[in-house]
Amino acid sequence: MHPILILLLLFIIFRVLKTWGFPMRLPSAGFKYVYVEFDGTVREVDSEEQQYLLAEYHPNDGNRPYIKSNYWSRTPDQKIHGYLKRIRVPWWININTDTSLSFTAFDITKYCNKWYFNNEQDHQTYPVSDVACPNCQTKTSVNFKDLEKHQHSDFSNLKADDHNEIAQLAKRIPELPNSFLDYYCSNCQTATRIYYKSWGGGKHGEYGFLLQNILTVNVE
Ligand SMILES: [Zn+2]
Repeated sequence: MHPILILLLLFIIFRVLKTWGFPMRLPSAGFKYVYVEFDGTVREVDSEEQQYLLAEYHPNDGNRPYIKSNYWSRTPDQKIHGYLKRIRVPWWININTDTSLSFTAFDITKYCNKWYFNNEQDHQTYPVSDVACPNCQTKTSVNFKDLEKHQHSDFSNLKADDHNEIAQLAKRIPELPNSFLDYYCSNCQTATRIYYKSWGGGKHGEYGFLLQNILTVNVE
């Protein structure tokens, strides 16, 4: 067969697999569904999620789990995350056995250049941490003063709806840091919240902040 025909055939097979959600790996033991994280990594679901997935729902129930049709399918706001049948995870993608919501995609260290602040090393307004918007990469600068102002505070810069949506998402972080700071991306208006730990009380009155998670909701 002509090499171009072989390539074409492979391409068609790939398209069919992608669209129809054919089995992408050999059947194996384990729970029927797994979870695809925001960054495309795949992990096993925990027992709470299993119950949620096995419960019966009315077809119109808004609480029904969202199940992806194939690995590449996206939510209306173009995010890859969601539950997926194990058998539809492409064979070259590893399924993480750690169900403890590692939240790699929420890990702020992937989005900024500085996550540790200390009153003895950092000035009020510099150096800053440039936090990239997870949606459009536009940077927002955060300094020591901002973090100090918002520590242990419930004050949110977001509209109530966005605030609630992010707070809901935050419930999935195993140990929620004690402080947060939030804003709308200046470019794409994505509601963004940084969770950080305010620490302090050392012998020399040292204190500071540790940026930990970044959560977003898209604004329509
Ligand atoms: Zn943005």
